[in-house]
Amino acid sequence: MTSRLPPLPALRDFIHMYRLRAKKILSQNYLMDMNITRKIAKHAKVAQNDWVIEIGPGPGGITRAILEAGAARLDVVEIDNRFIPPLQHLAEAADSRMHIHHQDALRTEIGDIWKHEPARPSSINWHDSRLPAMHVIGNLPFNIASPLIIKYLRDMSYRRGVWQYGRVPLTLTFQLEVAKRLCSPIACDTRSRISIMAQYVAEPKMVFQISGSCFVPRPQVDVGVVRFEPRKTPLINVPFEVLEKLCRQVFHYRQKFVKKGLKTLYPEELEDVLADELLKKCRIDPTTTSIRLGIEQFADLAQGYYEQCERHPGLFLYDYTNKQHVLEQLALEPNALPPRMPQ
Ligand code: SAM
Repeated sequence: MTSRLPPLPALRDFIHMYRLRAKKILSQNYLMDMNITRKIAKHAKVAQNDWVIEIGPGPGGITRAILEAGAARLDVVEIDNRFIPPLQHLAEAADSRMHIHHQDALRTEIGDIWKHEPARPSSINWHDSRLPAMHVIGNLPFNIASPLIIKYLRDMSYRRGVWQYGRVPLTLTFQLEVAKRLCSPIACDTRSRISIMAQYVAEPKMVFQISGSCFVPRPQVDVGVVRFEPRKTPLINVPFEVLEKLCRQVFHYRQKFVKKGLKTLYPEELEDVLADELLKKCRIDPTTTSIRLGIEQFADLAQGYYEQCERHPGLFLYDYTNKQHVLEQLALEPNALPPRMPQ
């Protein structure tokens, strides 16, 4: 079922009416084809009466599609003030369903937007197979897509922000190469830190691709639409930051033996002992490469590394690029190792 909007100027006319020109600095590439924006809303599985947060609505192509799909409430977060008048035009047409937040998405706690809304759909227990009737959707600017997805995956892992309401699905666009990395299987060239970070806490699926020619102005690259459904139980049971650090170092030397990357987790005097200990405990061949490690092996490595950090105070703070970092001194710093989340 869809919800009709009163007649509105076509998106292209909207752009001219409000004299909107894409600002390269904010990576603005608009989607003008409503068939594509409707396809995004459909793959996001927006249903009648759902609540949605849209990041970077711009002139409102996806916004219209979400409203048409029958969202009972839509909150849009847009940084560029030139888009506020056309978005207000859309909000008037949508009765009181649409709310505009003229803010930077990177500095917005989207979970707070609905915090005091009594009509909010009910929260659903994280272990329930149902998902809450809520969504986060966005055709993101490429320059903020990576920091934003890391922020959202972190919030998902701590079940905070919008994820305090349950396993809220997330549907975002990325440049195709990043979308492939997010969804990459083992032993592919696209396998990277972000593949592990996305796949341990969620099930990311590239639901379709959009040719660069569908955007105005046309970007240099094609785009992948990725839907993330949070997992009931994360596949790795260490705090997000610990796994992120492990993955960053393990993927530091993608073409080299895994031990070379692992060693960068430890001060020089301990690097061989602790890297060997970890690999042995996890029964991982030290001559394998990072892209050949499965998520179960990352789970074992993360568990072992977490235990090493508990045994060696200050180890989690160690940064191999900082020559001043000495374990005895780091151990005197306040304990930076984040506690584990209850499963
Ligand atoms: N969603 C629209 C579409 O599909 O046509 C516009 C997409 S355009 C790639 C990205 C949009 O995100 C622009 O409207 C831009 O102003 C907005 N944007 C850029 N940086 C932002 C930020 N930090 N917070 C919120 N919005 C941002």
